[in-house]
Amino acid sequence: MTEEINHQISQRDEVARLKTQFFSTVSHELKTPINIILGAIQLMESMEDFNKASISKYINMQKQNSYRLLRLINNLIDISKIEGNQFVFNPINCDIVKLVEDISTSVVEYTKLKNIELIFDTDVEEKIMATDPDKVERIILNLISNAIKFTPSGGKIEVTLSDKETHVEISIKDTGIGIPENMQQLIFQYFTQVDNSLCRQTEGSGIGLSLVKSLIDMHQGSIKVNSVLGEGSEFIIDLPVVLLDSIAQASDETTFVNIERINIEFSDIYL
Ligand code: ADP
Repeated sequence: MTEEINHQISQRDEVARLKTQFFSTVSHELKTPINIILGAIQLMESMEDFNKASISKYINMQKQNSYRLLRLINNLIDISKIEGNQFVFNPINCDIVKLVEDISTSVVEYTKLKNIELIFDTDVEEKIMATDPDKVERIILNLISNAIKFTPSGGKIEVTLSDKETHVEISIKDTGIGIPENMQQLIFQYFTQVDNSLCRQTEGSGIGLSLVKSLIDMHQGSIKVNSVLGEGSEFIIDLPVVLLDSIAQASDETTFVNIERINIEFSDIYL
């Protein structure tokens, strides 16, 4: 009886702790971009010379921070849809190799600007399987965005796809700061950040990886991380190869990459 009561009390304390953490993270994540947007507006108001070159810097600041707000709101909406079992999963038969390659190559110009090399490699030319391309795009962009965020200039990111017949393995490996061993499982839970101090170097809400995990669960797949502090991290996704009966299939001409989506998913990264 006492044990049961103690268990209930510690569960209640844990819920209260998570709630406080949620409000503190979300408030900080809302406040920072809003302050930057307001700051940029004030600077523009005080400008005397109003030519295009001089205002473009402030317009970009406002745009990037609006994307950050949009990303946070989208992630919060997605979390509540997932919790309420209302998230729509739309698998179609499509070529996973083309999908992952298109996404990786679409961000190469971006990584170049951060002086990070991004390489895509595959051991198979084509692999048709049922996936939801929209969700795969979110997963890969999220993991690449983290890899960029936590990899210093001069580093390298490798996206590799391997055909294992009954499943496909996708690895996103970086030469970044790495993740301490005791945090490696926790980062897939909501709001976990290795450095959650308000003066941390990178921006983020600690929602990305938990969403990634839910999107992979929808595919009946799995994700794991191998990391060595100071050397880098590798996220390995395993997706089962399933084919739908329907003849509907994405054509070879379909491009999955959506520039707006990249702007949103990469909005935490400052160039
Ligand atoms: P965030 O919005 O904070 O990036 P995520 O859920 O995507 O949230 O990641 C949670 C935490 O996991 C990050 O704050 C960071 O501490 C750690 N992390 C994720 N990916 C990497 C990586 N590639 N290298 C180092 N640390 C990482």
